[in-house]
Amino acid sequence: MGQLSKRREALLPLRQALPIWFHADEIRKGLRGNKDVMLLVGETGSGKSTQVPQFLLHEAWCKGQIAITQPRRMAAISLARRVAEEMGTPLGSWSPASKVGYSVRFDTSISSSTRIKFLTEGMLLQEMLHDPSLRQYSAVIVDEVHERSVNVDLVLGFLRNLVTRDKKKRKGAPLKVVIMSATADIAALFNFFNEGFEQVSTPQKEPEAQNKQESSYDSESSWSGISDDESSKATGEPVANGRANSSSTGKNVSVSANEPSKAENGHQSQNITTCHIEGRQYPVKIHYLSEPTQDFVETALKSIFQVHHKEPLPGDILVFLTGQDTVESLEKLVNEYAQGLDPSVPKILTLPLFAALPQTAQQKIFQPAPPRTRKVIIATNIAETSVTVPGVRFVVDSGKVKIKQFRNRLGLDSLLVKDISRSAAIQRAGRAGREAPGTCHRLYTEETYREFQPATTPEILRCDLSSALLTMKARGIDDVIGFPLLNRPPRESLEKALLQLFQLGALDDAGKISDFGSKIAKYPLIPSLGRILIEAAGPERDCLLEIIDIIACLSVETIFLNLVSDEKKEEAEEARRELFRREGDHLTFLATVQQYAAEQTDRKAWAEKHFVSHRAMQNVMDIRKQLRNLCMITSLFTHTFDWTQVLSNPSEQTKSSILQSLLRGFAANTARLMPDGSYRTILGNQTVAIHPSSVLFGRKVEAILFSEFVFTNKSYARGVSAVRLDWVGEVLGA
Ligand code: ADP
Repeated sequence: MGQLSKRREALLPLRQALPIWFHADEIRKGLRGNKDVMLLVGETGSGKSTQVPQFLLHEAWCKGQIAITQPRRMAAISLARRVAEEMGTPLGSWSPASKVGYSVRFDTSISSSTRIKFLTEGMLLQEMLHDPSLRQYSAVIVDEVHERSVNVDLVLGFLRNLVTRDKKKRKGAPLKVVIMSATADIAALFNFFNEGFEQVSTPQKEPEAQNKQESSYDSESSWSGISDDESSKATGEPVANGRANSSSTGKNVSVSANEPSKAENGHQSQNITTCHIEGRQYPVKIHYLSEPTQDFVETALKSIFQVHHKEPLPGDILVFLTGQDTVESLEKLVNEYAQGLDPSVPKILTLPLFAALPQTAQQKIFQPAPPRTRKVIIATNIAETSVTVPGVRFVVDSGKVKIKQFRNRLGLDSLLVKDISRSAAIQRAGRAGREAPGTCHRLYTEETYREFQPATTPEILRCDLSSALLTMKARGIDDVIGFPLLNRPPRESLEKALLQLFQLGALDDAGKISDFGSKIAKYPLIPSLGRILIEAAGPERDCLLEIIDIIACLSVETIFLNLVSDEKKEEAEEARRELFRREGDHLTFLATVQQYAAEQTDRKAWAEKHFVSHRAMQNVMDIRKQLRNLCMITSLFTHTFDWTQVLSNPSEQTKSSILQSLLRGFAANTARLMPDGSYRTILGNQTVAIHPSSVLFGRKVEAILFSEFVFTNKSYARGVSAVRLDWVGEVLGA
């Protein structure tokens, strides 16, 4: 038996032990005949993402590929790898015989035999540019819908159209759609799809029905009720009690695979089935702080070592923090303290886990801890539902999350560290009880917990919508208001997004997509970055290679290590001095990439010496390569160039071209110096301060542009460059 087959055989018993295994038939039958949509609820780790595509693969209707979408690239790749192993097939483009592949931003790995494709929601939307009816797919499985990213909401809207109004475009090959969620409330989803089916069965009522849909999903509360203490009451569903049947959820959900067409309240659907997978949850003891903490990283450190000293092995610790920066800070601290542990105490192995982590590092979390060692996984909210980490018995929950939020007065998104919702807190605690009874240490008081919002607000209600609008416009949706969405975004953010697209030249005067807009939509970048890329490619600017390097840096969270002590900060400043450019952060990023790329012997040592994150730089190099390829394929390079050339320091003219290209996309993110020494945004007249991490911190220049906005105790511009005020005027006046 070959290696692949051996591994497949070895994994089979694990698959057969998953809760979803007992529902394989129910899931297959639930999608036969004219049942086109299945709503599937099952706790994280029950086997949804890995098993459902395999269950459907040999169904008679399944002649094409199966797409399975993920909110994050990391999950898409690691799931593809796992499913390939389970099927005993090589992964992606490694072999033409590979049946499982993946496609994520900047990285696609598929073969001519690919049947199951894991991809991010964004990539599925991207594919719709070329194939609006998704004809290569027999089924699309939408995973992790409870996360409610903007992209998943768009995917749901397009899929609803494809199984109802636009069904004929599939020319007799119906599309099967499976919507999967880790939380119990699927009533809103049922109503959403059901409404689509009702509209096609009574087409004359379409406009009225459309209005009804909009109003009925207007409120946030239509997607809530996810707290675990409430969920069983709210939906009347069993939570983890033996072999659950498909069940009804909410007043309109009534049709199940086992009991077809049994309707409640006169509502039923011939086209939608629901399936509920029982969870496997052991009790989790919750501990709260008696007093709130000011520094959750410090408190997390204490909690980790308390658990480590008190609790016997086995039992790994999973810590939830906010972002790559806090994860890396805590990782360092834990490692420092662990070095001083008494030899009689078990060792500690720290493993970071965040979205931008390179593949090899991610895979480590799935491996069991070495003997006499406790794994401490320090994660962002990615480990909440997206990735199942085995071996965890203790959870340390900071109660915080870093999210994007639209700030209307500034007209742009900013990253905010916010309290999590109660449903997120419950998900986090649940991670401790997957394999045995566990404990969750909440780094907040019980009173604070009670003040948390019941559920996280869907992204579409709180984020910049320019990408979403461009996505719709590029796919022929001119009537954006009439597009089916689970929640309607606020009018103000729609207007702001339209204005932004107009400023970028992506829409024409009539609000239709322009040639420029269609060009921008081809790149997996937010519209402002897409615009910058195209500007840099033009003969007037001619600085595409440099801009690609800068965009690659903007696509990762941070390339410079976040330093904890003041002493280190001084040391780092000295070491980084040769990278710093007086024009600002963007040219500093460029210098860093150029020097890193030029380093031939030991890049890791180079990164350490300069206090640069080697991990982040590996990602940057990866994105840089992909973007260069993409620009080649889309003929954005007007001339050929030597791929291996090492770029030298840009000339003064090139520097101006780079900054002016950046300005073309970030014109809305500009601020001017006021007589009192503060900076005020040119478009909103808001005060912003230059972030302390910027090379321009403390400097006074006539105008700045910034690529990111962060709000902590005050408004900060991060990723800042000095620009000339007359350049800003030119762009804004244009
Ligand atoms: P769900 O989608 O319901 O959360 P999954 O299908 O993702 O469940 O996971 C099922 C099981 O497979 C879990 O026990 C998980 O630990 C395991 N698993 C998933 N991905 C990987 C991977 N890349 N490596 C090892 N095990 C994995």
